[in-house]
Amino acid sequence: MNHSVTRRLFAPQALLPDGWARDVLLEWDERGRLTGVDVGAQPGPGIRRATGPLLPGMPNLHSHAFQRAFAGLTEYRGDTEDSFWSWRRLMYRAASTLTPEQLEAIATALYVEMLEAGYTSVCEFHYVHHDTDGRPYTDDATLALALLRAAERAGIGITLLPVLYQSSGFGGQPSHEGQRRFIRSTDSMLKLLERLKPVCATQGARLGLAPHSLRAVPPDSLRESLAGLDAIDATAPIHIHVAEQTGEVEACLAWSGKRPVQWLLDHAAVDARWCLIHATHMDDDEARCAAATGAVAGLCPTTEANLGDGIFDASRWRAGQGRWGIGSDSHICVNAAEELMALEYSQRLLTRRRNVLATAAQRFVATAMTLEAVAGGAQASARPIAGFAVGQQADWVMLDASHHLLAGLPSADAMLSAHVFASHRHSAISEVVVAGTTRVNDGAHALGASARGGLVAARRG
Ligand code: ZN
Repeated sequence: MNHSVTRRLFAPQALLPDGWARDVLLEWDERGRLTGVDVGAQPGPGIRRATGPLLPGMPNLHSHAFQRAFAGLTEYRGDTEDSFWSWRRLMYRAASTLTPEQLEAIATALYVEMLEAGYTSVCEFHYVHHDTDGRPYTDDATLALALLRAAERAGIGITLLPVLYQSSGFGGQPSHEGQRRFIRSTDSMLKLLERLKPVCATQGARLGLAPHSLRAVPPDSLRESLAGLDAIDATAPIHIHVAEQTGEVEACLAWSGKRPVQWLLDHAAVDARWCLIHATHMDDDEARCAAATGAVAGLCPTTEANLGDGIFDASRWRAGQGRWGIGSDSHICVNAAEELMALEYSQRLLTRRRNVLATAAQRFVATAMTLEAVAGGAQASARPIAGFAVGQQADWVMLDASHHLLAGLPSADAMLSAHVFASHRHSAISEVVVAGTTRVNDGAHALGASARGGLVAARRG
């Protein structure tokens, strides 16, 4: 019997929102939504049986797809001291020539890689809007539509976050030539959202808004764009880069007398719709107040390490019940397990302790982190992708119990620990399913080779 017809799976071990459960029977409907999650079930005849521990699919809460094409090109010393800001100049150069066809090819390959690496949904923080000369395309949504097509083709869920970008520094400083493809008025952003709303609805994508940062969005535009978004969809997600760099904190203090997170909390109704990307540099008051809003901290550990941003204090954030998720951001690394590993290692180096992000309820740190990152990522995505519960999407990652580093380990906790801390890249993933449809089988996506070829061709130009 074909499981795609019966829409049922029996998992001897599955990671439910409150921890590992045994003998779980999953059932889902034709839309790919879970209709049954029964613990202690019997493996009935004709029901497919999972061959390894079943994890909830991981949402990737922060992506700039085009940046995957220049990974590896910025890892050398330049003329001056290398920093985030010298990296950004190279990023602008890559963004300046990108065509819609190239963006679609790069994003398709990236989303295939994400699926193979355990991500089942992505929040695309999309800021290259216009043609290479800075003028809008005839269809202003051209590049956004390229991203939606790439997600559909790869089979990954998507939350599309068009980015409002207006100025080059705090207080509305004029934009640079290198930012010409990003700039749009608040009105044109709201028109773009109206244009994209029905397209996203048809595809099952979620639409939100990303004011780029307090550097790039003056206060009036922030207020007006958020009011406009509310009129379109009062539950739409809102993402913003904030306090990634100490240079940004100093510039914000010089402009307003306040630190970025403090300024944002004082001037916007930050709540559970918000995702604060990075939020690396907060003082104790900012961390306590921001965590209490219910907003998600969007952590991108490998990108933050690659760019030399600094270390997010996750213990302090979680002490305030702060929610968090992970993103691959610049895509220097595309691997859900590696982001979790990098986050935990940064905390070990910071605190000189081990298993920092474990909890009393989940003493295996990889299990605790997976559950929190799925919950936070689902909230930031504003999609029903919060794991194995009725009404959520049937998204999962099946580990390969026959992998040489997992086989024979005594528990699912131990296997997940080996996957996060010891397996090579995504080698211990056997299957990835999105909305009940298998996208990765035996560790490989059906489009793998052709999509990767498309990225190489797009980078050659
Ligand atoms: Zn970013």
